[in-house]
Amino acid sequence: MKIPKTTNRFCPYCNKKTKQKIKIVGTGFQRGTLTRGSKSRAKLRGLGRGIGNKGIWGSKPAQSKHKRKSKTTKKTNFLYVCDVCGKAKYQKKGKRAGKVIQE
Ligand SMILES: [Zn+2]
Repeated sequence: MKIPKTTNRFCPYCNKKTKQKIKIVGTGFQRGTLTRGSKSRAKLRGLGRGIGNKGIWGSKPAQSKHKRKSKTTKKTNFLYVCDVCGKAKYQKKGKRAGKVIQE
């Protein structure tokens, strides 16, 4: 997916169409990292340290079939920053894309 660096877009703060920069924003945080029984919490407890085969705590554990990743694309997450007032606004819906290139 190719997107431009700037676009003309409606700004609700200026109440008219203005030039806006497009920023690609990451997803922010990983979901379920602090839920009960999660690996990150167990690692904070000090599990999975030391030498040798760490099994479930290793870098590449054996994946069961239902845990294998099925999705090959991610939803895009753009931030539109207005050049006039400097305020930012997110897009409504992210579309699935393998790679986002700004040109
Ligand atoms: Zn504006």
